[in-house]
Amino acid sequence: MRSIVWFRGKDLRAADHGPLTEAAAAGDVIPLFVLDPHFFAPERARDLPHRMQFLLESLRELEANLMGLGSRLLVVPGRSVEVVPALAARWKADRVLAHRWVEPFGRERDRRVAEALACEGRALKLFEGETLLVPGSLRNGQGGMFRVFTPFGRACQARLDLGPALPAPRSLPPLPGDIEAEEVPVPTMEGLGMVGNPRLQAGGERAGQARLAAFAGGPIASYAVDRDRMDRPGTSRLSADLKFGTLSVRTVWRIAAEAGASAQSFLNELLWREFSHHLLWEWPGLLERPFRPEFVSFPWRDDESAWQAWAEGRTGYPVVDAAARQLRAEGFVHNRARMVTASFLTKHLLLDYRRGESHYLHWLTDGDWAQNNAGWQWSAGCGCDAQPWFRIFNPVSQGQKFDPDGAYVKRWVPELAECPAAFIHEPWKWSSAQRGGSGYPEPIVPHAWARERFLSTAKGHLGRV
Ligand code: FAD
Repeated sequence: MRSIVWFRGKDLRAADHGPLTEAAAAGDVIPLFVLDPHFFAPERARDLPHRMQFLLESLRELEANLMGLGSRLLVVPGRSVEVVPALAARWKADRVLAHRWVEPFGRERDRRVAEALACEGRALKLFEGETLLVPGSLRNGQGGMFRVFTPFGRACQARLDLGPALPAPRSLPPLPGDIEAEEVPVPTMEGLGMVGNPRLQAGGERAGQARLAAFAGGPIASYAVDRDRMDRPGTSRLSADLKFGTLSVRTVWRIAAEAGASAQSFLNELLWREFSHHLLWEWPGLLERPFRPEFVSFPWRDDESAWQAWAEGRTGYPVVDAAARQLRAEGFVHNRARMVTASFLTKHLLLDYRRGESHYLHWLTDGDWAQNNAGWQWSAGCGCDAQPWFRIFNPVSQGQKFDPDGAYVKRWVPELAECPAAFIHEPWKWSSAQRGGSGYPEPIVPHAWARERFLSTAKGHLGRV
């Protein structure tokens, strides 16, 4: 049996990789990565600079790993829907093995590839790997998808039966002698017209495993307490590994679960991740539309200068500004800061969540369609959430609670380096002489006024629809 193992940017690893293990057990293995212009055309790649850097590093490491195992990754440019069936025919492969994608465009690509392969009697076999359970397989009492996280999480955890992890193969068969292709090297950032960012997390399976080991060996025990603190490194920082599959979510779950009861709040976050993927599987239109139909025609404002102030970190609210600056500098933002800043954009500034969503997708290293969309819709009040739409984060009290000494703010907002902790989240109360010299702006909108504006706008709109 001859199998193509089609790696696709969400499973860049050798360990716990169903397609690779199954192919290796069955005969010839041809590892393939297609540089699809959908992502790798320079103008597309420039739209995801941090994700691209992490992906290319991970791809290079995968290439070296497969070489070390005795095989070789073939990197071929072209449109997947054409290249994969054509290569399968040319190489006389019996089947193509890959991991399932949840996003609508990945599903459509796979449908077309499967159809083209089937015309010549070949199969595309999809494995679960991005999620813990098969998306769409978990149903509520009425036979539909859960609309509330808590019962979903409970049902998911009760159903989980992951079995033992698949170890990385000890060796792979060499590429068959008759295989040739129009191969190209793994691109570089420079080749795609970009400059690498030295402040990003390192990509690759080894770095991911090291991050997982470090987290499981210590911080997981205090995760429940530290996870909301923006000033502490209390979370796992595994989001990009999970996004690009340098770690499988099943491996992360298994290892975390070994930590016992103290790991439950971390496992809950993996369940939130799972929820967002199942939501998108069930409702693929979520990438375009709010979950709550009454928000479809919501009167978001059009205010370019407010948008620029938010995106550049000049709103005068320290946590919001720290998050905006961290995003661009490091491609990462703490979850609490993501919630505060997304709430600020949509509720304080009344700007469309989709603009924030695509800005985040542009800059985040872990930018993931399902999780980012769910996070933005949740924050904007139009998503799948048991809480009412009128929850509005107060950026001052959130800062005081989750960054009590202002260490997070001071790291990203140097204008406030001299600001005493007592005023760090309300610098307008700091003496005006000192504040004036700092160059830090006045609040773009007063909190109480902005809160009322959102509530009255939303009530007016929801009363009409
Ligand atoms: P940990 O706290 O260590 O959590 C472990 C893992 O659980 C994470 O790596 C992530 O995969 C998952 N997770 C944690 N929190 C959530 C959550 N609220 N929803 C879904 N999954 C979660 N996460 C992304 O991976 N990609 C995104 O593009 C993304 N965009 C977001 C946008 C907004 C507006 C919000 C509010 C949240 C977003 N999140 C996103 C969720 C969350 O902020 C990040 O997963 C988390 O901050 C990553 O840090 P960590 O790996 O240290 O998380």
